[in-house]
Amino acid sequence: MNSYDSDKIADVLRASEGMVLTDKAELADIIVFNTCSIREKAEEKVFSDLGRVRPFKVKNPNLIIAVGGCVASQEGMVIHQRAPYVDVIFGPQTLHRLPELIAASRASGRIQMDISFPEIEKFDSLPTPQITSGSAFVSIMEGCSKFCTFCVVPYTRGDEISRPVLDVMRDIRGLTAQGVGEITLLGQNVNAYAGEHDDGETVDLAYLIRTIAAQEGVQRVRYMTSHPREMSPRLIELFGDTPKLANHLHLPVQSGSDRVLALMQRGYTALEYKSIIRKVRALRPEISITSDFIVGFPGETEADFEATMKLIEDVQFDMSFSFLYSSRPGTPAAEMPDEVSNEEKMARLKRLKTRIDELENAYSEKMVGTVQRVVVENISKKDEKEVAGRTDNNRVVNFVGSHELVGHFVEVLITSVSMHTLRGELLRAI
Ligand code: SAH
Ligand code: SF4
Repeated sequence: MNSYDSDKIADVLRASEGMVLTDKAELADIIVFNTCSIREKAEEKVFSDLGRVRPFKVKNPNLIIAVGGCVASQEGMVIHQRAPYVDVIFGPQTLHRLPELIAASRASGRIQMDISFPEIEKFDSLPTPQITSGSAFVSIMEGCSKFCTFCVVPYTRGDEISRPVLDVMRDIRGLTAQGVGEITLLGQNVNAYAGEHDDGETVDLAYLIRTIAAQEGVQRVRYMTSHPREMSPRLIELFGDTPKLANHLHLPVQSGSDRVLALMQRGYTALEYKSIIRKVRALRPEISITSDFIVGFPGETEADFEATMKLIEDVQFDMSFSFLYSSRPGTPAAEMPDEVSNEEKMARLKRLKTRIDELENAYSEKMVGTVQRVVVENISKKDEKEVAGRTDNNRVVNFVGSHELVGHFVEVLITSVSMHTLRGELLRAI
């Protein structure tokens, strides 16, 4: 979501100010930090990064320094106090107002701060994106109203709000017209989508995906992140009857212990989670199921952790993200008693990561020798004679191919796997 927002910030500044991206901060006319507050480490980084660019401001008083994202949303005043040289502070829902904020700051010489939640206005004011890949993100809903006890997102991004169907479809037609074949629908809880149609009716994500799959030019659709609580039968059905839906489901579980899941207020049990996976796999036996895990939630016992390890065995996840619990000020979990030592938590995280890695490698090994439908995303960073593409089950594969392939779907024979990357051989364009 943040990387999508960063692209939008770049689009907005390109359209309004003719700005181009640079890797060299010392050459920049505007430096924008897009911050994240999901875990403490990400938040701390903001202040050290700001300290690093302060000397540029001394050398070039016209330099504009802006801070956006969720840290700005939650800690706007603190940023202003600790880093008074920051010119503009904006939130995830006001990034489209950046040009006006910059202009006001230049005119007045004073800090401009707008961290409000003006609902969906943002999307109507965004310029056409610059397409550099065969695959693109389309944000269909924003915010979160779930209030899991560990999570800061509902406070920083505001309530769930969905974009109208016709707005989403207009964006998608714009992308397919530029040759984009793969669309990833984005949202904090994308399956809570409840968008208005032109007849005033509200439609769900399943409806939206069917409409998108029927759109000429769309070759593959994905969505993330979805919440187990809203994995509706209609959404599950799509895996059976919509071939354009990618063979991948990212469904964060967080824990395998019902006790911890209840403390987290996730709204499902491990059994309910497994039942969703069973139904999905009945329709798509080869689907890749990935997840997010939090290790060391306050009061997590050895037995709770073992329940998570058991769930991993039961489901046989393919690739997952795992995080050490990070206490977020203002969330209910931050007040919960926690007696487990940090060493213990780290040891659990290491054990969980090792098992997840083993499963990921086993799935990759199984792909060797298979032919995969790949959307070519970009020229390889390491070797310009190579390109990198994404398989149906969301893995990156590198292979020899010309830059002209970028944006196209091709068939690739998977020849080997090393660490987290697959290598392949181009068979043909499709
Ligand atoms: N809306 C999605 C997740 C969004 S946040 C969902 O509910 O599944 C992305 C991931 O960050 C979460 O799935 C969770 O694993 C992790 N996360 C969120 N808050 C965290 C915290 N306080 N400490 C550690 N990890 C956290
Ligand atoms: Fe955070 Fe996801 Fe829970 Fe919302 S559903 S509060 S984003 S973890």
